[in-house]
Amino acid sequence: QETIRVAIAGYGNLGRSVEAIVGAQRDMELVAIFSRRDSLETASRVIPAADAPAHADEIDVLFLCLGSATDIPEQAPGFAEHFTTVDTYDNHHLIPAHRAAMDAAARRGGRLAVVATGWDPGLFSLNRVLAGALFPAPQQHTFWGTGVSQGHSDAVRRIAGVRKAVQYTIPSGEAIEAAKRGEAAELRATDAHIRDVYVVADPGEEDRIEREIRTLPDYFVGYDTRVSFIDDAEFDARHTGMPHGGHVITSGDLNGSHSAVEFSLELGRNPDFTAACQVAYGRAAARLAAAGETGARTVLEIPPYLLSPTGLDDLVKGYV
Ligand code: NAP
Repeated sequence: QETIRVAIAGYGNLGRSVEAIVGAQRDMELVAIFSRRDSLETASRVIPAADAPAHADEIDVLFLCLGSATDIPEQAPGFAEHFTTVDTYDNHHLIPAHRAAMDAAARRGGRLAVVATGWDPGLFSLNRVLAGALFPAPQQHTFWGTGVSQGHSDAVRRIAGVRKAVQYTIPSGEAIEAAKRGEAAELRATDAHIRDVYVVADPGEEDRIEREIRTLPDYFVGYDTRVSFIDDAEFDARHTGMPHGGHVITSGDLNGSHSAVEFSLELGRNPDFTAACQVAYGRAAARLAAAGETGARTVLEIPPYLLSPTGLDDLVKGYV
């Protein structure tokens, strides 16, 4: 088995996790990290991002670990012209446009670009399509959590007097059970999730802060919101992790019977798991590129056996 030579573009949470997870693969070797910053805390070789194209011949797969907000739309097509890429772009409603841009760029360079891997999008997308295909009239719901919502945490941190804050989104157990029974067609987002907030606040400001949190439109109004004030030490000890996860639940009637399909994730640390997905799709990307395929691919178009380091015959023998 040949070693897949990989590189990372962007060294944030995800880039650091990809570095560690590549280190645990027997069939991959990390060649370089491309970064826009000139000093990173890593033992790996760091190359300025602007010089990346000159190293294209040394690299089989480039993991794009840049931010989805602006980095990926601005920079990913440039990388896709020179490298086989794998990204975790997660701006759901803009994925069709991203796919088109990556497809055009990858075809220009004769390269392959695997887009929107990770868990949502990624494994959840696969499951939504797989389970949805089983029922003539599926009911489908995605529940997120328990996990940290960056957007909601940021919104709380912008309130005056808040020193530190984190918001966990918790899926409602009742809503999940209703979805399995096929009785959640009318379910509103506000009924499906609980919002659990932990705040370190300036002394004496707690009542006002709690009121401002509960009345933040779009973020908290209408939700079962729980607000806890804690001290610095407890925050640092218990609320600086990055747990996440969720459930995709699909149910429907078949010939008079009712069935439900559930796919769940409980992630100890979001970037580590996202990186694990991205790295597995990197293996598939290397194989597809070696077979001469070009253009953009989503997770829906990639056969699962290509993700595994085990050969197809052994997979059929052991897992089918
Ligand atoms: P992040 O930590 O904010 O890093 C994004 C980029 O910002 C890095 O690539 C890095 O590029 C730069 N950066 C990082 N730390 C910096 C610092 N201290 N100062 C200046 N620049 C810094 O984002 P992340 O947590 O790695 O997440 C990356 C993306 O993954 C997210 O935008 C999200 O869309 C995606 N994601 C997808 C899924 C999924 O399931 N599909 C799940 C989770 C996350 P340079 O090294 O070039 O400076």
